[in-house]
Amino acid sequence: MSASIELKKKLYNYCISQRKRIKHIYGQVCVGVEDSNHTFRVCSHSFNPKPEYVYYEDVRTRLTRIGIIGRYHIGNCYLGSCAEPHAANKLLNRLNKTRKQNIVTNSGTFIFSKALRIRTQQEVKYCKICKQTFKQL
Ligand SMILES: [Zn+2]
Repeated sequence: MSASIELKKKLYNYCISQRKRIKHIYGQVCVGVEDSNHTFRVCSHSFNPKPEYVYYEDVRTRLTRIGIIGRYHIGNCYLGSCAEPHAANKLLNRLNKTRKQNIVTNSGTFIFSKALRIRTQQEVKYCKICKQTFKQL
């Protein structure tokens, strides 16, 4: 399933706003994600999580199955630092707060937008770690 037009628009605007906000945008990527009913949508950018950063269980389980968060890496991609797990985590947080029934809080069902390089707004391929984390990518 592909991302909704609303998510694509939201990501584009997010990308532009981050470009102004983040100082070191070189290599920075952003991505959008929505739940399978296209009810909620969020965007996030790539960053190295601080030790106190909380990954909700569903995403944490997926990441720790692969390796140690922040240590395991393939090339320049560090486990847990990509925009994709951050966006999925943000959406989980949103879904956990909603009272709506029948909301699926399994990130395996989430729909991701294409990832964009913040500096240029050009599409970036998902990395191997993200493809391993989220099979839908
Ligand atoms: Zn990645």
